[in-house]
Amino acid sequence: MLKSILIVDDSPVARMIMKKCLPTDHGLTIYEASNGQEGVERYFSHKPDLTFMDLTMPVMDGFQALSTIKQRDPDAVIIVATADIQEKVLSRVTTLGALHTIKKPPSKEALKDALERATQALKH
Ligand SMILES: [Mg+2]
Repeated sequence: MLKSILIVDDSPVARMIMKKCLPTDHGLTIYEASNGQEGVERYFSHKPDLTFMDLTMPVMDGFQALSTIKQRDPDAVIIVATADIQEKVLSRVTTLGALHTIKKPPSKEALKDALERATQALKH
């Protein structure tokens, strides 16, 4: 079971929507960051079980934040959450080490599937 999730997104509304869709029944701790650099810092201070990563953000974008985290912690479980789900974006984030990509705003089903994938990934 996932114990903590970090949501990295420059949009407070996007973070709120994501939070609202997450299960609240088993004491899940949610951390938030509003750009890639803050995301990297929060990742290494909290070591969340799962990180949702937006791509387009100020200061440091999600591609760089994903790459920075995965280089320092290859076991990091990061799922990209983006409105821009083009094939070249998908292949780039996969190359950088993203476990999966979901479209924003996420459906309940997509989020449930994402959480299951992250739980599976944690076991290995
Ligand atoms: Mg954004």
